[in-house]
Amino acid sequence: MDTETATKGGNGKATREAAKAALAALPKPPAAHSADTSPVQTDIDVRNRTLWLTRMPYGGSRMLAAAFCSIGLDTRVTPDEDARTLELGGKYTSGDECYPQRIVLGDYMKLLEDRRLDPKKTALLLPTANGPCRFGQYISLLRRILDDQGYQDVAILSFTSADGYAGIGDQAGALIRTAWRAVVIQDMLLKLLLMTRPYEVNAGETDRVYSECLDLMGEIVARQNVGNKKRLAALQAGLRTVKEKFLAIPVENEDRPLIGVVGEIFCRLNTFSNNDLIRHIEAQGGECWLTGVGEWVWYTNAEAFRRHREDKQRLRKAWLKTFITSRIMHRDERALLKGFEDIFARRPEPHVSEVLECARPYLPQSGALGEMVLSTGGAIAYYRRGADGIVDISPFTCMNGIVTEAIYPRVSKDHDHIPIRVFYFDGTHSDLDRDVGIFLELTKTYKRRKKIARA
Ligand code: SF4
Repeated sequence: MDTETATKGGNGKATREAAKAALAALPKPPAAHSADTSPVQTDIDVRNRTLWLTRMPYGGSRMLAAAFCSIGLDTRVTPDEDARTLELGGKYTSGDECYPQRIVLGDYMKLLEDRRLDPKKTALLLPTANGPCRFGQYISLLRRILDDQGYQDVAILSFTSADGYAGIGDQAGALIRTAWRAVVIQDMLLKLLLMTRPYEVNAGETDRVYSECLDLMGEIVARQNVGNKKRLAALQAGLRTVKEKFLAIPVENEDRPLIGVVGEIFCRLNTFSNNDLIRHIEAQGGECWLTGVGEWVWYTNAEAFRRHREDKQRLRKAWLKTFITSRIMHRDERALLKGFEDIFARRPEPHVSEVLECARPYLPQSGALGEMVLSTGGAIAYYRRGADGIVDISPFTCMNGIVTEAIYPRVSKDHDHIPIRVFYFDGTHSDLDRDVGIFLELTKTYKRRKKIARA
């Protein structure tokens, strides 16, 4: 039989066998992770390892590390990012990965290579999520790279499966509650920093006070064998000191444009990845109102309620669990914010329900997911509070920024033409000061004619 007869099906059996052989010779694609092969290991004893966290932002990771310390786990924040972070992130990725992934990967590889840590005593903490973005792939990729580079014994932990680890088990509830309080406190400290620093009389004083307050609150969060009630009282006492320290910073009375800052959560909060954009805005005469970490936690809570509604689960067990969790979160948040009403009245934080309502005409929560919804709604919520301009910080090629950039012209038109600008970052350098300068000029013009006064 000649080849032509075979390909035309003249001898079907031979053709099928040839095809089978050709298929067998193809390299096997890596298997998808199943419950048994998940890159997140839950069968390890975390008490024998040092846990490491990357910065998102630095203060937030410090506070979260303190929460892990409160249940006896040695947890630390990775050292400062630098050019080597980008170099290693680029070396171990193909270019298709998003910018936050490169930074996280680069940070962890830098840590392992530079510090020569004992892999058997090291664990890297990485949150994970299901959803439309590449975030859910971080863990699989990191696991593969660690294995390829000889770090098979380095464990990867995910906060979402906290109660599955030996050494956490029955402390998972306490950890999650302390971690939530740590998130609220980190957002409060960051807000105080950004409300004060642009107006400080003595350069560097606000950063110094912020750092002292992180130390103070981190120490309280990290205390072990403390009940929820007692810890809350200690945190409230600590926050009273924080308030005194910030109010004691001498400030000038200036009228600066107020810029609401939204965008992709990692790039927005990790100052290295966004070339410290907020400091550039401050240096050119602006003040920033940055969306914190808590918004994302409230969003996941709102999403859980939405899913319960869709599944007709209202008043069932899962719904009740979300409901009780949300009540406890609200109670803790209110208790920690008590005493700051006067300071924060000038910057009233929008709750996620308002943000979702603002976004609805453009990106309804039921039809779009994640940060593009929050950024769109957040921009409008800042407009309603009298902001003079909106900045969206986005990693280059991230779909969130691409979608919001397409929507913002309409959002701006519907809202008195407030200036909105997306700043993209990918680790390369552009003339940031020029772009910030142009944007701030637009905000100053808007400020003179805007219809909505500031709170
Ligand atoms: S939102 Fe964009 S940049 Fe952030 S993890 Fe997802 S894909 Fe990456």
